[in-house]
Amino acid sequence: MALEVSHVVGGYSQIPVLKDISFDVQDGELVGLIGLNGAGKSTTINHVIGLLTPHKGTITLNGVTITQDSQAYKQQIAYIPETPVLYQELTLREHLELTMMAYDLDHEAAWVTAHDLLKTFRLDNKLDWFPANFSKGMKQKVMIVCAFLTQAKLFIIDEPFLGLDPLAVNDLLQLIEKRKQEGASILMSTHVLDTAQRYCDRFVLLHDGQVKTEGTLSELQAALPEAGESLNDI
Ligand code: ATP
Repeated sequence: MALEVSHVVGGYSQIPVLKDISFDVQDGELVGLIGLNGAGKSTTINHVIGLLTPHKGTITLNGVTITQDSQAYKQQIAYIPETPVLYQELTLREHLELTMMAYDLDHEAAWVTAHDLLKTFRLDNKLDWFPANFSKGMKQKVMIVCAFLTQAKLFIIDEPFLGLDPLAVNDLLQLIEKRKQEGASILMSTHVLDTAQRYCDRFVLLHDGQVKTEGTLSELQAALPEAGESLNDI
């Protein structure tokens, strides 16, 4: 399997937010990470991308642990946060070049991919723009273009359905589908279950820093009423 999160305990201080979390994402699989506000989705993602170190447990990507080889691990991951993180002093062109350097991409081939992506997201005439010139949705599109420029094995996408126009959501879903077919794995955090259920192969439901249940949305729906809960609340 591509991503394996095994018995992870962790958080921001000595008091753990994640309490023994285990789940995996297989090659070519799109897994939805869902749960109420504060359930631990972002904290889980922060551990997977290496921003936080587990107190206990392990996270491996294609057999590589982040502590073993941070660079090799991180080059396999592309992360699209819900709130775009861009360098104010760099243009769109420079963001793309920075991504090419960080992921050791062949510049010539990467620019061919970049031009396609820029056209898809209608950013092709904005290469010399700085982040201050972009709207929030446009900044999200810049993050998407940078992520899909890479040959990452794991894409982590935080709440892609809010803030993007429907055309861009559709373009993003097509990119996800293409990368899935090429064998990449996708972990997507979302509250928009009606859209997500059309695309996710499986869901991992977090509750209070633990994996409450996993499966398809109908399997989750069947499991939850035992606890007097409903997916409508998520
Ligand atoms: P949401 O749907 O609102 O984005 P989430 O499932 O992503 O929620 P997290 O952001 O992972 O939830 O939060 C899980 C817990 O960790 C919460 O109790 C929250 O208060 C705590 N937490 C989140 N960020 C920090 C931080 N930087 N420092 C300390 N505690 C934090």
